[in-house]
Amino acid sequence: MILISLVMSLVSDMHKLEQVEVPVFKLNFYLMGMEEVDQKVTVQIGENIEYLNQEFEGRVKFELGQLVMDPNHAYIPDLHQAHIEHDRTPINQLVDPIEVDGGINIYLFETYSKDDGNSAMLGFTPVLSAKHKLYAESSPSFDRLFISYPGLIDKSTVVHEMGHFLGLSHPWELNKISLDMMGFGSPDAQRNHMTYHPEVNHFTSQQLDRMQHFALNFRNYLITRIEMRSVLSES
Ligand SMILES: [Zn+2]
Repeated sequence: MILISLVMSLVSDMHKLEQVEVPVFKLNFYLMGMEEVDQKVTVQIGENIEYLNQEFEGRVKFELGQLVMDPNHAYIPDLHQAHIEHDRTPINQLVDPIEVDGGINIYLFETYSKDDGNSAMLGFTPVLSAKHKLYAESSPSFDRLFISYPGLIDKSTVVHEMGHFLGLSHPWELNKISLDMMGFGSPDAQRNHMTYHPEVNHFTSQQLDRMQHFALNFRNYLITRIEMRSVLSES
């Protein structure tokens, strides 16, 4: 009895229980080029949400919002080309008639390989490189992920794009200090979700902290609710 209370008091000396805010987002999926439900795709959507919640566990949570079917169609590389040329028309024509408020909008399109090679663009996410406070007033223009149907099969595409959505960059875009701050020093860094490695498997805890902070501060206008989580932290 004495021993237990001694251990307990030692533990409480070193750690304190902290309440952490976990933002919850709704994901609206738009099945472009589809007029009726494709069971295979809806199963893949469920699996992608499950994988997102696994990889963001304890930091950010995702729930299914609406599933929208729409016969209009385009190809991911063409939409990306229009996006980098600042031509908003092709995207706006597709999304304006169907977009619903209050969530992260994930548009699904087909893709193709541009250079006849093996690699086709699997997805992209329009983001602001600075002035992230402008996300709220630009809504819903920057509340969108563009994902290819093949990108749904490899569930890491949505996780990678959600990384961009919540403020992460590719490691090759970061300077030495930022790389250290994001925890890229470890040997398994090459399999980080923000790389193009074919077998990615993790975010660093620094990246997860960054995304949680980013979600609460710059994507707060999209948060459905906040859940509280208790964590032991060193005092
Ligand atoms: Zn990327």
